[in-house]
Amino acid sequence: MSLFDYFEPSPPIQCPACGAPLAGWQGKHWGDCCLFVWHERIQAPLDQRVDDDCRLDTAGLLTRRLEQDLIPIYAGECHSCGHKWKDLMFSILADARTGIWEETLVEPPPVDGSMIDKNWIQCPLCANAYELKDDQCWTVCEPCKRLIKTKDGSEQGRGAYALPRAAHG
Ligand SMILES: [Zn+2]
Ligand SMILES: [Zn+2]
Repeated sequence: MSLFDYFEPSPPIQCPACGAPLAGWQGKHWGDCCLFVWHERIQAPLDQRVDDDCRLDTAGLLTRRLEQDLIPIYAGECHSCGHKWKDLMFSILADARTGIWEETLVEPPPVDGSMIDKNWIQCPLCANAYELKDDQCWTVCEPCKRLIKTKDGSEQGRGAYALPRAAHG
């Protein structure tokens, strides 16, 4: 069988380069990885990306649970601008009791930038400034290898780990 599952943050995480949704996240965990498609805050996989003759039926999918609470995810990329991640590690945090994917994390966590002009954000670590597009709530500071984010924006998650989410669709 295959060696990974798909993970879909919901709403999708925003591309730090252009603000579009990131897609294609994959991850490996202790349980069976059979190309199941897991969604944030939903307990069982919603789909299985395999040929019809080996896909579990709906009842079978409903019995599946994530059995590992911290699962690294990778391969998220932007289909609009082609941005791919490097130097940063994303993972999902699932509730150990219910298996529900509760939160999406990035290490190291983003730092709050200061807005120095209408669409310009300044890295608090190196003072480089970057121009943001409309609706773009974070960007990567290349010299620091850190994400810098605005304090507003459509974030989901707790505290330092609140990640900017892209509009659906
Ligand atoms: Zn992009
Ligand atoms: Zn910096």
